[in-house]
Amino acid sequence: MSVKTFPLSREELEALTELYPTPFYLYDERGIRENARAILRAFTAFPGFKEHFAVKALPNPFVLRILAEEGFGADCSSAPELLLAEMAGLRGEDIMFSSNETPAGEYRIARRLAAVINLDDFTHIEFLQKEAGIPELISCRYNPGPLKSGNAIIGRPEEAKYGFTREQLFDGYPLLRAKGAKRFGLHTMVASNELSLDYHIETGRMIFALAAEIKAKTGVRIEFVNLGGGVGIPYKPEDKALDYQELSKGLEEAYRSIVIPAGLAPLGVRIEWGRTVTGPYGWLVSRALHTKHIYRDYIGLDASMADLMRPALYGAYHHITVAGKENAPAGECYDVVGSLCENNDKFAVRRKLPRIDPGDLVIIHDAGAHGRAMGFNYNGKLRCGELLLRSGGDVMQIRRAETAEDYFATLDMRALADFETEIKNEPAGLKKAEMGNC
Ligand SMILES: *Cc1c(COP(=O)(O)O)cnc(C)c1O
Repeated sequence: MSVKTFPLSREELEALTELYPTPFYLYDERGIRENARAILRAFTAFPGFKEHFAVKALPNPFVLRILAEEGFGADCSSAPELLLAEMAGLRGEDIMFSSNETPAGEYRIARRLAAVINLDDFTHIEFLQKEAGIPELISCRYNPGPLKSGNAIIGRPEEAKYGFTREQLFDGYPLLRAKGAKRFGLHTMVASNELSLDYHIETGRMIFALAAEIKAKTGVRIEFVNLGGGVGIPYKPEDKALDYQELSKGLEEAYRSIVIPAGLAPLGVRIEWGRTVTGPYGWLVSRALHTKHIYRDYIGLDASMADLMRPALYGAYHHITVAGKENAPAGECYDVVGSLCENNDKFAVRRKLPRIDPGDLVIIHDAGAHGRAMGFNYNGKLRCGELLLRSGGDVMQIRRAETAEDYFATLDMRALADFETEIKNEPAGLKKAEMGNC
């Protein structure tokens, strides 16, 4: 069971919408900080423990800064994500660069920040050497293929594009050593939104055993393993959150039975959690604009899948409540929809909810990770802004909503004006010929 709450009363939320019109995201600083501390507390048994928050989950430097203050690093996979980590004051080994199909320029930025480069493929050893040089500390990403089952969002490892095979790792580490690398990490990421404790412990066992095998086969000593992200959150009220302490206990057991006998201790343990760090502490707040009754009953919101596309993309469940009607009986059955000209623009399908009237504030829960970040501009939709509820109770805007000017900003308006003149001045004959002879 997970209880779905929202940190503001209906009156407080109504007052907030006068300053910041809906839709917007609201993040809870206190919740994020307390959660970050719980994660660090759970893993104190691992001396080299580090959580690199996956920037893609919530790419906002204010939030990264809060997490950095709690002791988290960042996991980046593009140049702008590296720059966001830099804005949050992170550098060096606090940044993991777990990219794939990486352009040379991004490797150079990662080198400038002294980030830990996590190679996605054997051929990138040569590529990195040529384009940016081989750093002293380097990590490789493992794809277990048929040796590990996958899950719904990320798919089966065998079909996943990421990482080295086992054999490639046994060749890759000695090659990296020959090219000057001296310190080595080993990374894997095999699941997404996975709530099974056993699954994550099993991943730990797998990676510990592989580090031992790499040492035995190649003499290369892995200094840290990185278990990636992929810990799920209880999106549905009946789901149960993964217990960090239980996970840590299971990993400790695996560490004792595999890492210590292999002579690999101390082996650093790192993770790249995104979803579970901020997901439950963010809400998409929107207002019901319309009700519509045809073959089904619809509630039309001022937010759309351009603000939160997980339901449309994965059929993902996001809990919905109505401000001030938290305890009202769920006597209606609605499709809760946005305004995109796409019929899958639905936040909920046939959901039991209390009666919703135009003007009601509709709160979409667990949107603090992979929410605003996955937004887009299709249909000329402008992405909404982000607010931070500070630990002291104040609300601060940490990203404004997009405007039409933002949407047009990448168009070359001067070239458009020239184009207009050109079209007007084209000889009439040419226009006629272009139209054809019918
Ligand atoms: C997406 C991603 C993560 C974070 O995943 P969560 O499911 O948000 O924990 C971590 N590492 C890599 C390489 C990723 O691609």
